[in-house]
Amino acid sequence: MSHPTTDALRERATAALARCGATTAPDPTAAPSGATLTARTPLTGGTLGTLPVTTADEGAAALAAATRAFHAWRTVPAPRRGALVKRLGALIEAHQDDLADLVTLEAGKIRSEALGEVREMTDICDFAVGLSRQLHGRTIAGERPGHRLSETWHPLGVTGVITAFNFPVAVWSWNVALALVCGDPVVWKPSELTPLTALACTALLARATADTDAPDGLHHLLLGGPDLGTLLADDPRVALVSATGSVRMGRAVAPRVAARFGRSLLELGGNNAAVVAPSADLDLAVRGIVFAAAGTAGQRCTTLRRLIVHEDVADRLLPCLADAYRSLPVGDPFAEATLVGPLVHRGARDAMHEALAAARRDGGTLLAGGEACLTAEAPDAAYVRPALVRMDRQTAVVRTETFAPILYALTYRTLDEAVALNNEVPQGLSAAIFTRDQREAERFLAADGSDCGITNVNLGTSGAEVGGAFGGEKETGGGRESGSDAWRGYMRRATNTVNYSDALPLAQGVTFL
Ligand code: NAD
Repeated sequence: MSHPTTDALRERATAALARCGATTAPDPTAAPSGATLTARTPLTGGTLGTLPVTTADEGAAALAAATRAFHAWRTVPAPRRGALVKRLGALIEAHQDDLADLVTLEAGKIRSEALGEVREMTDICDFAVGLSRQLHGRTIAGERPGHRLSETWHPLGVTGVITAFNFPVAVWSWNVALALVCGDPVVWKPSELTPLTALACTALLARATADTDAPDGLHHLLLGGPDLGTLLADDPRVALVSATGSVRMGRAVAPRVAARFGRSLLELGGNNAAVVAPSADLDLAVRGIVFAAAGTAGQRCTTLRRLIVHEDVADRLLPCLADAYRSLPVGDPFAEATLVGPLVHRGARDAMHEALAAARRDGGTLLAGGEACLTAEAPDAAYVRPALVRMDRQTAVVRTETFAPILYALTYRTLDEAVALNNEVPQGLSAAIFTRDQREAERFLAADGSDCGITNVNLGTSGAEVGGAFGGEKETGGGRESGSDAWRGYMRRATNTVNYSDALPLAQGVTFL
């Protein structure tokens, strides 16, 4: 089958945007005046459109409008706020094909993963609607008679959301669904690599807002580069900065937010490992490993990047994996048979090749993959075959997140050694163990086991459900989004003591007057 042309892809993007109600259709022939942003597709490397960049003045006006909206929205009862998110979820579901098209066009995901990402949006909307009736505080046993001690959760304020290219719609929805039911307007700075999906999401939320008579100004889109992220980091009107992206971005953003005592929620890079124990079901392990390592062309924060295999099973497992890698269909992500789409741009492929060269210098052996693909059909794109590399040691390149499909395989002898290898990297997002030995599984999940925010048994490191809290430790940033009690990050807690007696006993038995 022939590779799609940029013209055909542009038409597809324009049609999807129009159906979502986005007013700024991309038009490569009519560049707007002022600074611009080019929307490209990794499928060909071609241009889908040119969009105006949000100016600093427009950004400041958005923050002022969001602050006004906060003052109205915070007193709307939470279940009524939930009605807006319910409508948003319904619109997302109605436009799931359009959104999935845009995710594929801008992030390069295969159809099934793009639809999965959109499904995650409707899932989190459902979750948030339920949550809108469950923003519970506690009643606490107080020490003084005639007093009641309790806590209340109030809306926090404007939430600034900075998102990465690789989950262009799901991470926005995690933030926006929770922030809105919690009473917080959102100002969104999406990745400069995925502006069209951002326009579509913004249009759907605008429709949901109108349909539910919610106040204006609850959502604003800032299109452009890191300087707009800096605007959110620095402005004291932004109560919470929820930032998803590289550790480098987190290092720039977090100190700025901290300098003004703002709150930040950081979802940064991962360097995730899976341990394969001698008792593992190897067929299941191979399937779990290949999806986690090669799926999304290795461009998930939870992508499996390190394999820690017991030395007794390495010689059986690694050849199976190498065979699977050699047969993975790489190509047009819209084609039904494709399992590995493109990298986001050629810079990502260069980074992959540099990492493979460094691994070789460190004594690594390439077992499969690593080569560029479709160089004739799509010379400006960056398709690669996922790479499997055997390493003797965890060298600097293994300890670094290269955002591409490279799986480094190491061996171990004792579970203590495997746990140490898992934890011996600066990042702490996701980890997995394949084992049928319950003692090993429990040890890996225990306090002296994996140090990651997400730890799985008998499945890969990627593909979390929305019901759990998502995030990781160490350089991953410590933030938690999505399910469980992550909503608390979007609210402020007030501890309230009410004295309904006619006495004034002081806490801790203090006497005064
Ligand atoms: P990136 O850091 O290049 O960009 C992410 C976002 O941050 C973009 O919107 C970008 O414009 C903005 N940004 C970049 N530098 C900034 C700065 N100095 N100040 C303010 N804003 C800035 O990341 P990317 O290449 O888009 O995404 C890949 C990275 O994101 C990987 O490291 C991946 O692991 C990580 N990621 C993490 C999670 C998670 O939940 N932990 C989820 C998805 C992606």
